Amino acid sequence: MSAHLIDGKAFAGAVRSRVAAHVAALAAHGQPGLAVVLVGEDPASQVYVRSKGRMTVEVGMASVEHRLPAETPEAELLALIDSLNRDDSIHGILVQLPLPGHLDANLVINAIDPAKDVDGFHVLNVGRLGTGQTGMVPCTPLGCLLMLKDYHGSLSGLEAVVVGRSNIVGKPMAQLLLGENCTVTIAHSRTANLAGVVRRADIVVAAVGRPEMIAGDWIKPGATVIDVGINRIAAPEEGAGKTRLVGDCHFDSCAAVAGAITPVPGGVGPMTIACLLVNTLHAFCDRNGLARPTDLT
Ligand code: NDP
Repeated sequence: MSAHLIDGKAFAGAVRSRVAAHVAALAAHGQPGLAVVLVGEDPASQVYVRSKGRMTVEVGMASVEHRLPAETPEAELLALIDSLNRDDSIHGILVQLPLPGHLDANLVINAIDPAKDVDGFHVLNVGRLGTGQTGMVPCTPLGCLLMLKDYHGSLSGLEAVVVGRSNIVGKPMAQLLLGENCTVTIAHSRTANLAGVVRRADIVVAAVGRPEMIAGDWIKPGATVIDVGINRIAAPEEGAGKTRLVGDCHFDSCAAVAGAITPVPGGVGPMTIACLLVNTLHAFCDRNGLARPTDLT
């Protein structure tokens, strides 16, 4: 491996420490509160919600969890969101995705008060990001951007290729990179000559959900590779029935060519939760008419 390893775990720890310092310094204005709503029993979602709750408390914020059964009627979920919207002790609301199939995710997300939409998925916040206005920025792409800016300083003029066009990662990632004056290409499942497109990039952000799809010979020498993918695959070498996590990039071959790369796990994942706490702090500052801290983003 010749690439610099971008240590998302350490970077996220530093971001959370700064958030904690701000929470302590702002105590005279109250305590930021984050409500997480989990519908159903998706095992991965349960793990995420648990770590979100733990880290929220660790930075000095109040954490409220609402766990609802998978068959919860839409009207009941909307009523809960309405009550959280009106609750002055709650500054951030996150509805864990994916939702069970009978619930309309767009309807549910757009029911959240945009000022409390710490996931940045409300259509108003999507519009603000797209038009360069201050709002709530989705946590995963924000985490990727912070790591890129920390490593590169200025991103201006760099060629960025984002592989994946989902509303939660690919599209907002592209908007953020455009905002930093990158020349941005969004690739997806219908992109012709994907390897050739990726090979142009100074910055590759992989958000595909296909284990180890992007190989080292797709990477321009010296490029920075941000691997958003989290894929669980069988790991028979570690014992029968064992699994391990891998990204969307083939780590060893990409790391041999790239200038810098994020590992999976320990790269983008920890930054996502750190940015959720940043967004909750921003929502708290906005609500109290305070300036957002300048040392977090
Ligand atoms: P989605 O499934 O919503 O989107 C996947 C995107 O990848 C789509 O745009 C799809 O294209 C594209 N794609 C699929 N197959 C190919 C292919 N063969 N070639 C090129 N493009 C392809 O996934 P998400 O954006 O929600 O998540 C992506 C990955 O990131 C997943 O592994 C997920 O687990 C992970 N993730 C990690 C987070 C973290 O905190 N680290 C947070 C969120 C997600 P098309 O639109 O044409 O179908």
